[in-house]
Amino acid sequence: MDERKLHLEHFSQKEKREMEARDRPSEEFREGRVPFGFRHTFPGGEKFIARQSNKGQGMITLEKDGAAVLDFSALLPEGWKFVTPTYFQKHPEEESLADYFDNDWAASPDRKMVLCGEFKTPQDILGLLHEIGHAVNDTSEENDAWENLEEEKRNTRDSAYTVLLDEEIAKNRSKSERGAWAWAIRAMRRTQAETGADFRGLFSSPAGVKEYVHYYLANHRRGYERIIREDLDPSFYKELQTLFDRWQYAAPPERQD
Ligand SMILES: [Zn+2]
Repeated sequence: MDERKLHLEHFSQKEKREMEARDRPSEEFREGRVPFGFRHTFPGGEKFIARQSNKGQGMITLEKDGAAVLDFSALLPEGWKFVTPTYFQKHPEEESLADYFDNDWAASPDRKMVLCGEFKTPQDILGLLHEIGHAVNDTSEENDAWENLEEEKRNTRDSAYTVLLDEEIAKNRSKSERGAWAWAIRAMRRTQAETGADFRGLFSSPAGVKEYVHYYLANHRRGYERIIREDLDPSFYKELQTLFDRWQYAAPPERQD
């Protein structure tokens, strides 16, 4: 495979547009004009229902024969909640600049919030579990270490030092991202066993799960492309292969609606 093809700067306009459509929240959603919500019916009749409360909190359940068999907030650690853009309109003092900026789904450990995004496909239920995985898995030591590295990066203009900091950040994020995906896949299996809903059927094959996960890991890896563009430390960019997606998937995965 042509490695150059794996760098975002070599993607075609069409591929970039597809990625943006997948990753960016729409303006309507960000501004709260389109409320958070999604429904998916599993082959066994179980219904995945995501919606928001009047206060803008996310409510996500799995129902069977009209009764809730799983409330996804029960998977969150104590004190955490799901929030939507409407929540921040009602609590502007709790909003940070990065919220719903260039992607929507996110976990915010300092505020104990999972920021709910737009479901683009039923497979994004795995993406939801990934954010819950961050909430459950990431330790406060790792989060603090990440914050400190980012802070130090903001305060330096030395590009060689920035690369070193990026390397530490990449290692920190790699552990966190991989841990959250592993948690999500385990939670998907467990939820399937407990409720009977065919979560694995959301993907056409086990390779489809891997492709989905690697697409998002690749987005993280591409975040370090400056190192290639500015010829700072190409060998470090190569090392990112082992930290994130192993360069398995260059383009966005097939959408399965
Ligand atoms: Zn993540």
